[in-house]
Amino acid sequence: MNFEATAGGALRIDGRATAKDVLVRLTTEVSSLVAEGARPGLAVVLVGGDPASAIYVRHKIRACDRTGIRSVAHVLSAATTREALLALIDTLNDDDEIDGILVQLPLPPQFDSDEVIARVRPDKDVDGFALRNLGALAAGRPGLVACTPAGVMEMLRRYYAQTGGDLSGKHAVVIGRSVTVGKPMALLLLEANCTVTVCHSRTPDTAAHSRRADVIVAAAGRAKLVKADWVKSGAVVIDVGIHRQEDGTLCGDVDYLPVTHVAAGISPVPGGVGPMTIAMLLDNTLRAYRARRGAAS
Ligand code: NAD
Repeated sequence: MNFEATAGGALRIDGRATAKDVLVRLTTEVSSLVAEGARPGLAVVLVGGDPASAIYVRHKIRACDRTGIRSVAHVLSAATTREALLALIDTLNDDDEIDGILVQLPLPPQFDSDEVIARVRPDKDVDGFALRNLGALAAGRPGLVACTPAGVMEMLRRYYAQTGGDLSGKHAVVIGRSVTVGKPMALLLLEANCTVTVCHSRTPDTAAHSRRADVIVAAAGRAKLVKADWVKSGAVVIDVGIHRQEDGTLCGDVDYLPVTHVAAGISPVPGGVGPMTIAMLLDNTLRAYRARRGAAS
């Protein structure tokens, strides 16, 4: 699979096609495990009736079905107690058939998400949010990496493999410092030998930093924040943001069309980071399976 050019000239860093490639690889790997009588399993826990969360969960289950990973959905009402949710996580922690546990966020307001995430066994934490996994990432040690930043890295690796360039040594600017996206993203880019600048809501002039970047990862949660004049000619732009516009269509944190005329590569929204996040969740499930059962299986 090769990325194709947009009308503006930049290569379209196609997350949907990349995710499909990843899922094909995972399907092959899972089917050889199934032939040996084994099957990795993912438990997805959804609490409350948030419609967006229900859609995300459905996509995750569907992707499991496609690759042969066993999925179990636990749908709990918003009235579920803290004790009941923690007890369910304990059961899944002890269930040998379950390799990955994903608690769909956000949880209803009566729950402390940090407490719930901390209850998931780190070796089943396929979201990569457990402190042990975040710490491993900071220390450059093996662990489960948060799916969205892991997906961005896969897109960047493929972009540079196709164009013959090298991510190593590039100046990367990450816009956003959340624990789930911006911070792990910055650490992964650092691991890939980039020089990394992290901008956030208190950065006085994010545009000035962005203009100096060879690679921009936009994860600010602000629709079309990154304008064409924020982007250096030939830069590579990955858009993590996702926003529903008034006309019902989706857009990202990047002003896509104008930026396609300036950047060398750009990921679209939709069809960019979103599908990659799901693909990396399944990749993490298989990694968790292998790590728990030893690399031989
Ligand atoms: P968040 O709200 O937790 O964090 C946003 C970060 O951006 C904060 O650190 C904030 O300081 C920074 N920020 C806000 N405005 C800024 C500005 N003007 N300049 C510089 N920095 C600014 O959000 P998040 O969970 O990290 O998600 C970010 C975006 O990515 C959201 O749009 C979210 O929906 C999207 N997202 C997409 C996926 C996916 O799979 N595609 C996954 C996770 C998040």
